[in-house]
Amino acid sequence: MSPIIEKYIEIVKKRNPGEVEFHQTVEEVLNSLVPYLDKHPEYIENGIIDRLIEPERQIIFRVPWVDDKGKVQVNRGFRVQFNSAIGPYKGGLRFHPSVYIGIIKFLGFEQIFKNSLTGLPIGGGKGGSDFDPKGKSEGEIMRFCQSFMTELYRHIGPDIDVPAGDIGVGGREIGYLFGQYKRIVGAYKNGVLTGKGIPYGGSLARTEATGYGATYFAQEVFKNFGEEIKGKTFAISGFGNVAWGTVSKITELGGKVVTISGPDGYIYDPDGIKGEKIDYMLVMRASRRDKVQDYADKFGVKFYPKEKPWGVKADVYMPCATQNEVGMAEAKKIVENKIKYYIEVSNMPTTNEALAYIQENGVIVAPSKAVNAGGVATSALEMTQNAMRYSWSFEEVDAKLKNIMINIHKNTKEAAEELGLGYNLVAGANIAGFKRIAEAMMAQGIV
Ligand code: GLU
Repeated sequence: MSPIIEKYIEIVKKRNPGEVEFHQTVEEVLNSLVPYLDKHPEYIENGIIDRLIEPERQIIFRVPWVDDKGKVQVNRGFRVQFNSAIGPYKGGLRFHPSVYIGIIKFLGFEQIFKNSLTGLPIGGGKGGSDFDPKGKSEGEIMRFCQSFMTELYRHIGPDIDVPAGDIGVGGREIGYLFGQYKRIVGAYKNGVLTGKGIPYGGSLARTEATGYGATYFAQEVFKNFGEEIKGKTFAISGFGNVAWGTVSKITELGGKVVTISGPDGYIYDPDGIKGEKIDYMLVMRASRRDKVQDYADKFGVKFYPKEKPWGVKADVYMPCATQNEVGMAEAKKIVENKIKYYIEVSNMPTTNEALAYIQENGVIVAPSKAVNAGGVATSALEMTQNAMRYSWSFEEVDAKLKNIMINIHKNTKEAAEELGLGYNLVAGANIAGFKRIAEAMMAQGIV
């Protein structure tokens, strides 16, 4: 590691003790920027990195609510407004018991680069709560969302900060959050949140966007090697919205997806997940039981309790669950099984050590901040439609999404090639994302 990068990492560790996921992403991103920074000493001199690693604002708040038994519950809410160089802060809200400030900062930091890659005017931010939606009633979810927004509303706005969904926050939660925001501010500003329902300003294709976008990106990667989706076998983890969109598009384009997973284990379906089986993923997701064993029971396929799918035979692996699900043990299996393509979909699914090992052993890797950018890009398209007070058809949004993904792949690939790094999408995504942010920050002075 170069001494200059080491210095920044020391600062991050000292200022943010114990926030290991945040340290991890900063280390990964900054290390890959070294060849670019060597050519641009002005960015170091002007403190671009010093400013980039410190969020513009961090908000932590109490979220009190009353459960169905009449008992008072208290959760912790977060919003980290990381960087507004290229647009209002933009990024999802995650409701999961594992959430603490380190997770929100890691996600917010990734969001800066991802949002930059989309080419659209959105800055980086992220938020959430340690609230666990699992097993909660409809009324409890609504009361929690209302209480969460009762504090959050003063920090957000269509030109300030625009939250959306992430793990544990889908269309239902966004609806409750929007209803409360509208009631508090007394104005119909639907550009304040994205991922809304279609009747009140949501964008068609937003639900599909992350998975469809990931598939379009994968298509570009395959094209680069003269290959296509058709005829390939895919192993996927996760079973939520992102996994669903990915399975749907891959299957439509002639690929075969043989696994999905949940916290309880994974299922292996040798015939491929298609037709009513894809629709059943939505049923499982809506049940909020966090289980994929139901799929095995319903369709009579094999269920592997407490295991991850990273040992199965496939051409392509696409992790779509959560951060750090692929460590060294899984990375070794990926290399041993001669998996040709490793396409990250969920945010930072791979530890830094595992990612380096997979790349060094000749697996073609696509990083999540490029691959999953279609979700937030379509959120930006939702903001555009809200600002125009107009809506595009599904086909129009999907065509724009596809174009955006093709461009992200092209810019990512070229950013690495320009520095003589070859087809290195991991470095390319960080460099291409950084380039735009750094130029904008330089132009705006020391702020
Ligand atoms: N949570 C998604 C992400 O990780 C989407 C964010 C958004 O649409 O603002 O990019």
